[in-house]
Amino acid sequence: MGDPATPVRLDRFMARANAAYYGTRDPFADFITAPEISQMFGELLGAWVAVTWQGMGAPTPFVLAEAGPGRGTLMADALRLLARVAPACYAAARVHMVETSPRLRDVQAQALAPHADPVAPVWCDAVADLPPGPMILLANEFLDALPIRQFVRTARGWDERSVAGEVFVTAPATDLPADGPPATRDVPEGEVLEICEGALAIARQLGRRLAQGQGAALFIDYGYDGPQWGDTLQALCDGRPAWPLARPGMADLTAHVDFAALGVAARAGGCATWGSVTQGAFLSALGLFARAAQLARNQTPEVARQVSEAAQRLAAPDRMGGLFRVMAMASPGITALPGFEGCSPVAPVASGMEKGG
Ligand code: SAH
Repeated sequence: MGDPATPVRLDRFMARANAAYYGTRDPFADFITAPEISQMFGELLGAWVAVTWQGMGAPTPFVLAEAGPGRGTLMADALRLLARVAPACYAAARVHMVETSPRLRDVQAQALAPHADPVAPVWCDAVADLPPGPMILLANEFLDALPIRQFVRTARGWDERSVAGEVFVTAPATDLPADGPPATRDVPEGEVLEICEGALAIARQLGRRLAQGQGAALFIDYGYDGPQWGDTLQALCDGRPAWPLARPGMADLTAHVDFAALGVAARAGGCATWGSVTQGAFLSALGLFARAAQLARNQTPEVARQVSEAAQRLAAPDRMGGLFRVMAMASPGITALPGFEGCSPVAPVASGMEKGG
């Protein structure tokens, strides 16, 4: 990688760089995620799972999946909550972790060790490999790690960015995706439009799956919901922002998630979508501040302060609460989803359009 003589398309560069990064480095030395900030995050998602499962008619068993589970903290916190307050849901859950990094799989197995009995968690490489049947899938900061393509608007059409050594080079785009951006979006000349084909493929596939069987999928990520353009590729190396093309494999490469495009792809597959809403609105609706007050009760002032600070960090509009967004994809028959009380679901496109495709 990085031979200036042979440019590598940006998505291929990013795929290799992140596979090396997650396979060898400790990502959490470079950044902190919501489940690592506080146990409240995973607990609230556990509560979301329990209520959503009830709304699905309490199917037993069901696949409880997480994509890109990092250290496994979110799932461990969710399962601990379920075991305590929703034992029937806990007993019905067949835990599946979608993770490509062998090193992180080991870390996740340790985190889930208390929940390996009677049915042990299972790991797989891709969302498409999850077994059939009713399913609830969670994903926090997963889609932002998937490789993007970047297109630059020109007077003639679109150029595409590749990586040569440590710089970008552009050439006229040759294989534009037919059914989505950039073909369907216009932006001013000279501007960059991003597309994450991996995320769109997952959304479309989940759309088909959720149209045919019962389930819901929840995506939480840094991103935007609306017609937007601009270069959002960023790198964190040793905890600091870095030039994304330098030191591939040593830095975490991410891009903001285009929730509008994700919703279009999911609905084309056949499911309904809910939101996106901000993480702050979502967690508040799930009872973040009530849970924080409960955790702080009978604690020292220092612990109470830490709990309150964590809740603020997760929910405040000028912090993660406003920067992160939450979108659900759900079977069309599901009529209510916790955390989305203020929104109506957006219906799938006319049924049958993409089924079996
Ligand atoms: N959800 C976690 C971790 C986020 S980091 C948290 O909130 O703390 C991104 C995670 O996605 C890591 O576990 C990484 O190994 C995983 N990942 C990255 N690319 C992936 C891919 N293509 N398929 C499956 N997992 C991937």
